[in-house]
Amino acid sequence: MKTQDYMNHPSEDSLISCALLERDEEISEHLFQCESCSEFVEDIRTICSDISSIEDEDIPLSLQKKIYHITKKRAKHYRFLNFIQTWYRNPVVIGMIAVFAVLFSFFFYIFFL
Ligand SMILES: [Zn+2]
Repeated sequence: MKTQDYMNHPSEDSLISCALLERDEEISEHLFQCESCSEFVEDIRTICSDISSIEDEDIPLSLQKKIYHITKKRAKHYRFLNFIQTWYRNPVVIGMIAVFAVLFSFFFYIFFL
């Protein structure tokens, strides 16, 4: 697992505004260290340049697919991060760990002592 999985990632909104305005020093610094966020910003910039090159034409299917792909990739990334950052606060997980600890010590006592 790479260290970037434990970072605090800027919100999607601030990444997008950074991609468009390029003025946030804090985010730029994060992008320098974080591959997934900098990829996201690159993707946004690519999409924006694609959109500005289209002008009056309709948005092509390839671009729609690209947007869909990014959103999907992003959602997966955040679900994983969210799990990493919150699992120890989840009472169900704590409860299960407690139950297993009790069962384990019980069986250990029965079989080995
Ligand atoms: Zn990041």
